[in-house]
Amino acid sequence: MPIKRGAEIARHASSSAPAACSIVNVGYRSTNFWVVSAGRSRFLVDLGWPGMFGALEANLKRMDIPLGELSHGFATHYHMDHAGAAQDLKHAGMRLVVFDVQAPFVAPMAKWMKPGMHYTEITPDDNTVIPLAEGRALLRTLGIDGEFLHTPGHSDDSVSLVLDDGAAFTGDLTWPTLAGEGEIDVVTRSWELLRSKGAKQVYAGHGPIRGMP
Ligand SMILES: [Zn+2]
Repeated sequence: MPIKRGAEIARHASSSAPAACSIVNVGYRSTNFWVVSAGRSRFLVDLGWPGMFGALEANLKRMDIPLGELSHGFATHYHMDHAGAAQDLKHAGMRLVVFDVQAPFVAPMAKWMKPGMHYTEITPDDNTVIPLAEGRALLRTLGIDGEFLHTPGHSDDSVSLVLDDGAAFTGDLTWPTLAGEGEIDVVTRSWELLRSKGAKQVYAGHGPIRGMP
C-alpha cells in the first residue's frame, strides 16, 4: 500500500505525555522523508534523492512547510535514497546532524553516484557531528523529545530516532521476518533495542506506517 502523501499525523498529548509533534511525509520515488515538527521548529528525517531537490521542495510547498523552517536534519543511513540531497538542503540553510557512528560512511556514498545523477557532494567540515547520547539535547532545543539509537541491520551506520511518544523512524532497518540468516541476530537486537526504548509506531524509509513487529 503506498503512503498517502499529504496525510498529516498529529498526535495529542495527555497532560503526562510528551509534547505533541506532528509528522508529515514529504517523500517521493518510494522513499519517505519525514518532517517532525513542534510548531515551526522542524527536524527532517532522511534527506532526499540526489539531483531531485526540486521534488523535495515541491512536496514541502504542497504541505505548507517553508524550506527555511527545516533547521536541522539527519539521514538514517548514508545510502543515496536517504541522504542524496543532504548538501542541497545544507545550501538551503539546514544544519546536517551526523552521528559519530555514521561519520565514516558519509564520504564513501559519493562512489555510488554517477554523473547523470547530479549529486551534490556532502562537505565534511560544516556538519554537526555528535555522539548518539547528545541527540536528545539537540532535539530538545527544537521542542522535540526523543532519542537516537544505533540500529544496525540493513547497514552498519543505521541510526533510528524514537520519539518519547513512541513514533520510531527506522530508515531501512530490515523487518524481522524478512531478515536473512546472516543478519537475523543483529536485526533482532536492533528491534529489541527499539522496543526497550518505547517504540510503538514504525515510520520506515519505505512503505506505510506500521505497528511494531
Ligand atoms: Zn538503504
